[in-house]
Amino acid sequence: MLHDKVIVITGVANQRSIAYGVAHACARHGATLIVVIQSERFKSRAEELILQCGKYHNKKHTIFICDAAYDDQLQQLSLDIASITERIDVFVHSIAFANRDEIKGAFHDVTTRSGFLLAHDISSYTLVAFSKFLLPLLKKSQSASIITMTYYGSEKVIPNYNVMGVAKASLEACVRYLAASLGSDGVRVNALSPGPIQTLAASGITGLSKMIQATKENSPLKKSLTIEDVGNVAVFLASDLSQAISGEIIHVDNGSHCMGINIKNDDNRSDIS
Ligand code: NAD
Repeated sequence: MLHDKVIVITGVANQRSIAYGVAHACARHGATLIVVIQSERFKSRAEELILQCGKYHNKKHTIFICDAAYDDQLQQLSLDIASITERIDVFVHSIAFANRDEIKGAFHDVTTRSGFLLAHDISSYTLVAFSKFLLPLLKKSQSASIITMTYYGSEKVIPNYNVMGVAKASLEACVRYLAASLGSDGVRVNALSPGPIQTLAASGITGLSKMIQATKENSPLKKSLTIEDVGNVAVFLASDLSQAISGEIIHVDNGSHCMGINIKNDDNRSDIS
């Protein structure tokens, strides 16, 4: 499905990262990957990833380093990428950050001005920044697609998710505004909204295991979510099959977002009969 596609993927920290699952799925479907990591710290994982992904279709994948908090690094990244490819077909934004002590406790108590700005800068604004710097290369694609990762905590209150929920709401608004402003360049912009998964970033959220368990129990499909599940839907958004979709938030959560209060079928059977 992704034969001939050049895909830039951010957010690989380790083998648990959602971006790791997306990279594998895209490579399996024939894409050439450019993996962008935040710092040298993640290099060995990224090298392991491109080695594994290279085996699917005997393709050579590349790694670049860019801390998205800095415009000069984004500028350099766009030059680095332009030195190895004429175009980018897909950009995957899988980046978020908030201070650990602001994703636990009472929202009004723990949220600081600087923490609020930091969470919004890294988790939301970087989508706009990457889009801006990579646009000249995205414009050269016949069917460019930008994909980001949000979470249901943008729509409803999730205990302890706090400032990240507000930043994700901002990110989702950015998806819509970018979809509108990049549409005339032929670039579509969408978000995936996975359910909770045990990753490095998510492990900072107090009560993550309970969130994962509760989401599983409350979801129609009653199963755990994997990074492979997310990767498979990312393949669809990266592929030409999704050419008519932009400004959309797609939940990849075994259906849990559609549920209201959690009452097991058995609990209310006697009421119905
Ligand atoms: P992760 O820790 O594996 O990935 C987060 C990535 O963000 C890391 O690779 C880190 O290097 C990168 N990053 C942070 N600051 C950066 C910066 N300044 N410059 C460049 N990169 C930076 O965790 P993950 O769960 O795979 O997170 C990926 C995305 O998925 C995030 O947007 C997260 O909010 C979202 N998400 C995660 C879950 C979940 O439960 N794990 C659910 C829904 C959405």
